[in-house]
Formats: sequence, C-alpha cells, structure tokens
Amino acid sequence: MASPDLILLHAPSVYDFRGKSILYGPVSDLVPSTPVFEMYPIGFTTIAEYLERHGLRVRIVNLAVRMLQDPNFDVERYLASLDAAAFGIDLHWLPHAHGAIEIARLVKRLHPRRPILFGGFSATYFHEELIQHPEADFVVRGDSTEGPMLDLMRYIRSGGAAQPRVGSAEERQLVRIPNLIWKDAEQNARVNPLTYSPENLDDILLDYTYVLKAVVRYRDLTSFIPFRAWLKYPITAALSVRGCRYNCVTCGGSACAYRALHGRQRPAYRKPEDLASDIRRVGQFSRGPIFVLGDIRQAGDGYANRFLDAISGYKKPIFIELFDATPPDFFRRVARALPNFTVEISLESHDDHIRQAFGRPYTNQAIERTIDDALEAGCQRLDLFFMTGLREQTYESVMGTVDYCERLLARYAAQGESRVIPFISPLAPFVDPGSRAFEDPNRYGYKFFRRTLEDHRQALLEPSWKYVMNYETQWMNRDQMVAATYEAGRRMNQVKAKYGVIEPDVAAATEKRIVRAVALSAEIDRIVRIGDPAERHARLRELKPQVDCANLSTVCDKRELELPLQQSGVNLLRAGHIVASEWWRGLVHAPEKT
Ligand code: SF4
Repeated sequence: MASPDLILLHAPSVYDFRGKSILYGPVSDLVPSTPVFEMYPIGFTTIAEYLERHGLRVRIVNLAVRMLQDPNFDVERYLASLDAAAFGIDLHWLPHAHGAIEIARLVKRLHPRRPILFGGFSATYFHEELIQHPEADFVVRGDSTEGPMLDLMRYIRSGGAAQPRVGSAEERQLVRIPNLIWKDAEQNARVNPLTYSPENLDDILLDYTYVLKAVVRYRDLTSFIPFRAWLKYPITAALSVRGCRYNCVTCGGSACAYRALHGRQRPAYRKPEDLASDIRRVGQFSRGPIFVLGDIRQAGDGYANRFLDAISGYKKPIFIELFDATPPDFFRRVARALPNFTVEISLESHDDHIRQAFGRPYTNQAIERTIDDALEAGCQRLDLFFMTGLREQTYESVMGTVDYCERLLARYAAQGESRVIPFISPLAPFVDPGSRAFEDPNRYGYKFFRRTLEDHRQALLEPSWKYVMNYETQWMNRDQMVAATYEAGRRMNQVKAKYGVIEPDVAAATEKRIVRAVALSAEIDRIVRIGDPAERHARLRELKPQVDCANLSTVCDKRELELPLQQSGVNLLRAGHIVASEWWRGLVHAPEKT
C-alpha cells in the first residue's frame, strides 16, 4: 500500500506513562478520555478531510489509544514501520506537552529526512519556544489550519526543503504560507503573519465518513478510535463554532484568547443547516449520542431556530450545552425538534458572585428557571457542572456548593424528579495559557508556578496532580485545592446516593476510590520530602500498582456521564455501506489533483 502524504500522530499526555508512577487525580473524570488524554482533537478529522478532498492521503494514528489498549505495544517499532511525506503532531491541549515532544523526538530519530509539523492551541501559544526544538520543523498557528496545512503539504510534496536556503525559491514559497513558523538553513526561526482566520466554517467539514474510509484503507481501526471506550460508548462531536463570545477567566478558548492567539475578532460559525447535516451523517452509522460543541444560541435566536428547523425529527440522543440562561420557550422548540435531548450547563459555583467573577453572566435564579423549563419540556437529563479552583473561591465556598446541590436535589426529589445530576471536578492540571488569568494573574488572584512550555513539560512528570498543577489562587493554595476537591467529591457522591441519582453500589465504590486517592496523595507528599533521589524513586515505583488503580474515575464514576444506549453503538453494516458508496462516488468523481 502506498504511504500516505501525511500521518497525524496523537501522543499520550506523558510518554511513556506506562512505566511511570503518577497519581493523575480527578483531572479527566468529566471527559471521555482517561488521564493520559487519549482523545485526539477535532482538528485532526477536519484537516484530514480537507486534505483528502484536495487529493492528498492522510492517516490518523492515535498512539495514546494503542498504548492504552496494549501494554506491550512497541511505539518505537511501530513508528519505524510507518512512512509518509510528513508527520503532524498535535499540541493542542497543554497536558500533551510531554508526550507530543517525546513522540516528535522518536519520529525524528527514526525518520530524519521527514519534516515534523506541530499545530494546536498550545503550539500556537508557545510557537516561538516550540520551533527552537530541533525536532520541530514547522508550527502552524491558529484555530483554523486547514488552508495553511494544504499549502504546506503541497510544498512538501513538491520536494520543498524543511529548512530552505535564504534567498532561494523555496524560501519565497514558504514566506507566502499564512500562519506558518519555520526555520531557514541558518536556523533562524521565521514567523509568517497570522492572516488565515476564516470568518465562518463553511469550508470545513467534520465528516466522519473520512474516518470510516481511512479505517478500511489502512485496515486499522484502533488507530482511528478517538478514545479508549469509544466502541462501547461512541459519543461523537459536532462543531457549531470556532471561538466564543464569553470571557471566562481561565479559558484559553475565550473571546480574548481567540483574539490574541488566533487573530479571531469574532466567532466563526458553522452554517446551521450544515451543522444539522453533519449530525445526520453521524447518525447514519452511530447510535451513540452526539455532543453539539458550542451553545447553539450563541449566534442568536435566528441561528438556533434555523438549526432546530433543519435538524427537526432527529430521534437519536443529542447533548446541547448552554452558556447562559434561556427564555422560557427555548426548550419547547428544542423538544419539538429533538425529542431525545440532554442539556449540559456549567454553573461553576453555587455563589452568584463567584460565578460572575469567573465570567459566567447568569444567576442561580435564572438558571433554576432554565432547569425547570428544560425538565418540563422533556429533556432526557440535565447535567450541572461545578468546579474547584475559581477566583474568590475558598474551601468553605466549595463545601457550600455541595450543600446547594443537596438542596436542589432535595427539591427535585420531592417532585419525583431524578433527571438533574450535579458533578464537581477541579480546574486541573493547568489553567490555559492565553486565558485572562494566565496573562494577568495578579489582577485575577492567580499565582503560576509554570510559565513556559518546558516548565509544563517537566511538571507533567511530577508524581501527583498537586505538583503537576500550574497554579494556585489567592484564596486556596494547592494543598487546600486538592483537599477541597476530594472532600467535595466525597460529599457530592453521598448526596447523589441519598437522593437516588446513583445506585448505592456505585456510590460505595466511588467513596472507596476517593478514600484511597486521599491516602495515596498523602503518601506521595511524604515520599517527595525524602532527600535521597534513589530512595524517592524506589518508593514511588512501589506505589505504582496502587496509583494505577486510583487513576480512573476518582471523584465520580465516569459512567455517570453516559446515556444508556438501546443497542450497540456503531452500526457496522451501515458503516460498510457508507464506505462502499463513498468509494463508488470517488471512482466517478476523482479528487482534485495537487
Ligand atoms: S468556558 Fe466560557 S469562555 Fe470558555 S468556551 Fe466556555 S463559555 Fe466560552
């Protein structure tokens, strides 16, 4: 089989996590990934689809999933067996700062003549530092890199050098690629202007048909799996927007972060009718839920109405998220269009003042009315998310949040209502670079222990999440934050059991895990105080089996987030049919040639 033009590699958070003893803590309890953050960014799928549409061949390899699924998976041997004109590595979420760079080193050693490309939010933020790494040939900045990636891949495919001579024709070609960071033959970093920032998402397609076809083409399902448990619970994302209108203090995806990092002046929306088609296409092969990323009301009521008209009658489970309270009739419209909808709302804190200081504009009163409207309209479930690590939030305030949840659940239980489910988790391990808190810590009451990419790369090797965290606040230090998170998780678990939100056996297992995690955290604190590095290392190694057991679902059971599925999630017959018809269409309409 011919080598692809580009192989996109997704690394685990820490390479090689399998040999390390790290208590990751509850950092991934509320996302589908495990703590090695094996889920690859959506950009992999949109870039791959875009390049394929323009005649290039792209393969995605989720190394993190492969390493999780097979403890004996030999990364080096596997990478040596691959080849492509170029290798791309995502450095989107900062928790990949270690794994992404280590994988790049390995690829560079095994394929010294192949250029290595980096992209993603963290690569964008740290582009000047990243390009200094000898294994980084190119960094593509921005929130939308499909266009520059196509230009760059055409350059590489035409034989263009990774580090062209100054004054050469190749140099003149690279200078013209927007958003690109590169090195010339004299090892000078060259930063092209960030001018590619499309105003809408009309030209990108989150089309998982590409993934289905590529699975067949490379006879490799494992490498394309987005996260370890996906085949059991195939939740799939649909993208409504790049950018955001809000400015939550710690968010690297906020309006001001998008402006500063990606040159984005306003959010780029997917056309509502196209968003509906994206969802229907996934629904052809998946019975799993679809999560619509971005509040569909963000672009205004007109957008939400057009989307709801276009998606009307879609009966499979669908998650929508809200960034604000809604007017009373909103959920009636949602329920008419999407009879199987679930709602996610982030309250962050029970305290209106703390929530608003974080950047969320709504009050408890407004959101409780919204919850009532959603329940009355018939939502399947309503998940409420709270967080530790907020500005102005103390230990007592975190406990107050759990008390608030208890009052809420008691009220709904009295009405025979069990669809409201609260969750609490820490803002960890990192506050996002580019966020207001990271850029102006004094103003927002944050203190940072890590500032550079290298700082964060090193931090990821610390033995527990307390030491990995890049911040503490004026109101809680890291010890208090860890203590508050575990205690809030324990109390929330008890409250959920008391009001029948979770089964007693699930609650008992979670309680046990929290108690064990607290004990391990204390034990690691004792070990890090040991002066002799060899003894410290040996003691941490001894703890590894217990640490590994404590690393999944700490403050809640991850499965609490899942919706029950009637049938197995992926319709393989239907997927096969889609691949066959796409293959036939491909024969009839050959792709545009480079
Ligand atoms: S956390 Fe706030 S700023 Fe960030 S994407 Fe969500 S609503 Fe926007």
